[in-house]
Amino acid sequence: MKNKKFIYQFKEGKSEGNIQMKDLLGGKGANLAEMANIGVPVPPGFIITTEVCNYFYQHKGKLPEKFESQFKQAIEKLERITARKFGDINNPLLLSVRSGAKVSMPGMMDTVLNLGLNDKTVIGLTKKTNNPRFVHDAYRRFIQMFGDVVLGLEKKDFENILDKTKKKLGIKLDVDLKVEDLKNIISGYKKLIRKKIGRSFPQDTFKQLEMSRDAVFESWNIPRAITYRKLNNIPDDLGTAVNVQVMVFGNMGKNSATGVGFTRNPANGKKEFYGEFLINAQGEDVVAGIRTPHPITDLRKEMPKVYKQLREITGRLEKHYRDVQDFEFTVEEGKLYMLQTRTGKRTAQAAIRIAVDMVEEKLITKEEALMRIEPQQINQLLHHVIDPKAKLEVIATGLPASPGAAVGQVVFTAEKAVLLGEKKKKVVLVRNETCPDDIEGMHMAQGVLTVHGGMTSHAAVVARGMGKCCIAGCEEIRINEKKKKFSVDNIVIKEGDWITLNGSNGNVILGKVPTIEPNLTGDFNIFIKWADKIRKLGVRANADIPRDAKTARQFGAEGIGLCRTEHMFFEKERLPLVQQMILADDEVSRRKALTKLLPFQKEDFKGLFREMKGCSVTIRTLDPPLHEFLPKTKKEARSLSKKINISENKIWTKSQELHEFNPMLGHRGCRLGITYPEITEMQVKAVISAACELLKKEKIKVFPEIMIPLVGHINEFKNQKNVVERIANETMKKYRIKIKYLIGTMIEIPRAVVTADEIAAEADFFSFGTNDLTQMGMGFSRDDAGKFIRAYLERKIFKADPFQTLDKEGIGQLVILGIQKGRKTKKDLKIGICGEHGGDPESIKFCHQVKMDYVSCSPYRVPIARLAAAQAVIEAKSFGKSSLSVSVGK
Ligand code: ADP
Ligand code: MG
Ligand code: MG
Repeated sequence: MKNKKFIYQFKEGKSEGNIQMKDLLGGKGANLAEMANIGVPVPPGFIITTEVCNYFYQHKGKLPEKFESQFKQAIEKLERITARKFGDINNPLLLSVRSGAKVSMPGMMDTVLNLGLNDKTVIGLTKKTNNPRFVHDAYRRFIQMFGDVVLGLEKKDFENILDKTKKKLGIKLDVDLKVEDLKNIISGYKKLIRKKIGRSFPQDTFKQLEMSRDAVFESWNIPRAITYRKLNNIPDDLGTAVNVQVMVFGNMGKNSATGVGFTRNPANGKKEFYGEFLINAQGEDVVAGIRTPHPITDLRKEMPKVYKQLREITGRLEKHYRDVQDFEFTVEEGKLYMLQTRTGKRTAQAAIRIAVDMVEEKLITKEEALMRIEPQQINQLLHHVIDPKAKLEVIATGLPASPGAAVGQVVFTAEKAVLLGEKKKKVVLVRNETCPDDIEGMHMAQGVLTVHGGMTSHAAVVARGMGKCCIAGCEEIRINEKKKKFSVDNIVIKEGDWITLNGSNGNVILGKVPTIEPNLTGDFNIFIKWADKIRKLGVRANADIPRDAKTARQFGAEGIGLCRTEHMFFEKERLPLVQQMILADDEVSRRKALTKLLPFQKEDFKGLFREMKGCSVTIRTLDPPLHEFLPKTKKEARSLSKKINISENKIWTKSQELHEFNPMLGHRGCRLGITYPEITEMQVKAVISAACELLKKEKIKVFPEIMIPLVGHINEFKNQKNVVERIANETMKKYRIKIKYLIGTMIEIPRAVVTADEIAAEADFFSFGTNDLTQMGMGFSRDDAGKFIRAYLERKIFKADPFQTLDKEGIGQLVILGIQKGRKTKKDLKIGICGEHGGDPESIKFCHQVKMDYVSCSPYRVPIARLAAAQAVIEAKSFGKSSLSVSVGK
């Protein structure tokens, strides 16, 4: 720290810093330096680096040894530039002391204005400016800000004094206060300070400066700043810089003003000058809401010259930074100063429009435009969202499992959701957790709220698949299903009460909140087509029913990467047949039940294939353990017994028999098809005859890809492949027609990875089932991991939830090995992914790097995947070759 430079100076036309130095100078400081460099009028000043802030924290409030002298020199320099003197009675220099971290944290930390005023400089400055009202207004503001930010007193105590005075005088606005009134307020403020801290307001201006500087360092760790960092994933050790800058005054009279603005509309992206200003005011007044600011377009009438200059400068800034700018300015007696500029935060809708417009204006390239949108942001565009103008009463917060907004009446069972849903009532399904039986109810509900479960719990996965809003793991609430109510603290919500869910941030809100429609405008289409042109990965969807397939196509899916056939089995008419099949005593009666099921499955596939005309459709044979289809309670067994005419006792015994200690590793996947080949037979017959009939009668072509789940040994695959080939041939013969189809397997068991070279000899394609591969590879049961993964993330044991973002260093290596081995046997082996990771941008980039052919994700994530896949290509281009050193063939 010895010969270190702690302070960087800037003035219009020249500065020691620039925009590349955000780490050291903070965003605000680096931008001030950059503006100065390109000749924008900024008041002169200097920046104390973030390193000093970090030193300050590491040394309990002490500053580096050489700091003091650099600090003094910097102030002297400002005195020379302005020909004023800090603390001088006749010609005082006034300063602002402003916070500013590397990442913008708007309004989270503190700033002090008008520093350098005291009882004596006030007199000198009054003489000099001949404007006593302005000077006392500035002094009043300074004491208030100093009291709040530096001395830690309550803002409202100061405001009380101000309000009382105004009330007594019958005045509404601060600007109507006379000099005498301001003097009274000032002495009231001083009394307040003495009373509260037992000391007077400091008259020594250097002391004022030191105290303010340290208070700005300390504001890095005020609670709201800490919370903001947590919510936005900003590291706690960046520290803030301190910007000390010469004051300019917007409160010197009618010819002065202050304002803020954006170079384009940040809500919708329209190219229009956007902002607000106030005449005769200081910066903080614009946001404070005491006076209503005027739209910035009015400035054209009020101060035409300033307006023109402001348009010119902000236009220049936008061109220079090549992005929308959010700026602050002040006009002092007709002269314009810029006080801040930064990249403007915007909604997803605005972001797309701005990116498209800027490409058209030739300001940025298409590739840059594609890199500017966070794939996750696209979510905001696809779902209903809460009206940003609405007032909210948030009662609890859970995990934001599936975005969008849901408004409905509370119900506690899937049956009730179906009952009311069919009557076109809007309901929100609130459950401890959901299970496959709840699917209809979930479908009928506007949204789902669960007490337990993580981001990849059943509720979360299914809801995302449906594009339905879901909040999971909302452990704060207690459900009393019997009494049909749930509670949070003292609030009780009964069945039928209205609530609103915000799936984008996990907030559970009381009552009916207004929402607004998503808007996939022309701009979005233009934008996403650019992504399609660049990307190498194919994008398919996980879809089980025609409606989902249709949505997927609309969002640009190029095929289906996973159709989970069991979801068809849960549908109304099919479930009793499935149950009869499971309850059958022997193969003959099992086949009888399956024969009844066949026409339903065939129609299911026909529906799906019609939507997917011309595409590949991957169909997985039955995967879940059979007990999932049977009743869980005696009562359910009784009611089923009446429906399907099998004794309650038998049903109950069978469900007990099928009970497994660890169903995840039990009788499921290809193990079912091996023990009950007639199930696979029926499914293949349904798939192939559906394809044949469509081709014959409707001239619709599809390419079925039959996929065997949970294969670990080549012989398992061979066994099922035999069944598939035999039935497919028989069926095609029957229709006297040939169709193209593939037989492949999921790679989701570590043993399959290790023997992928053997499996590839038999399989036409691989699809990585990374949900199961993660749970088996890590030894985490996905449905139980929610309980401890959060603790892992908090303790920084894991960087991300491995069920959300593929664990590249671990499970990802299994994926690489599987691809290497598979392609060693079959050079052009078709490889995709169908786990939840297929919709996660980070994981999609990995899939591109390891040269998969496609990703498959839930329909609502398809546009996100299209963008992420394009970004993967652009990133690889700009960072040279992919960061993976291993070769993955192809
Ligand atoms: P924030 O990050 O909360 O916006 P700022 O440091 O930008 O805090 O300052 C708060 C307000 O004070 C802003 O409106 C800003 O424009 C104004 N301000 C800051 N420094 C000066 C200065 N030197 N002269 C006049 N106004 C200033
Ligand atoms: Mg600011
Ligand atoms: Mg699986």
